[in-house]
Amino acid sequence: MAQVAENREFLAVQLSKHFYLSELTKSQTAARKGWNNIPDAKGISKLRLLCEKVLEPVRAEFGVTVCSSGYRSPRVNRAVGGSKTSQHRLCEAADFEVPGVANPDVARWMERRLNYDQLILEFYKRGQPNSGWIHVSYREGRLRNMEMTALRVKRLGRWKTVYITGLVTNYVIEEAESNMNWWEEIKLFFTGQVLLPA
Ligand SMILES: [Zn+2]
Repeated sequence: MAQVAENREFLAVQLSKHFYLSELTKSQTAARKGWNNIPDAKGISKLRLLCEKVLEPVRAEFGVTVCSSGYRSPRVNRAVGGSKTSQHRLCEAADFEVPGVANPDVARWMERRLNYDQLILEFYKRGQPNSGWIHVSYREGRLRNMEMTALRVKRLGRWKTVYITGLVTNYVIEEAESNMNWWEEIKLFFTGQVLLPA
């Protein structure tokens, strides 16, 4: 019980004008399994920076901004299938959406106006404004301003995630089986350069 009470106090901690620790640490997986998903003091200060430098400016421009995943403890990250090097583990990344605004519009504004480490337009489907989300990371001393697009493509009958450079929305996702070579297939789909095949 002491742990629960302590967590409750932590969760009310305000990170910036509009964001609370509860929003940047919530995890359905952690809640379901009863795992603690609160970072240490250093992690909390990194989340503050992420809020101040990225999420607050987005909120100021577009209005209410909903974070779906911020910090993930190593255990939570593993459970949700996150990458081993995920910046979510380091309190450097958040996934979010602005309800009512298409993710590419928000991402393109961020590209023009903000500094960050990585900005990834994740799983947006053209013509479906509410599809996908935005992943953004902020790390003091390493602001690469690197934009990428993550999407699912079918390879040999199985869906794979691929990352391409830039914010790319002018592709067509073929749901049909294809006999083409995977790489040819990807080259056809994107105008961007394929970065990290997964
Ligand atoms: Zn993410």
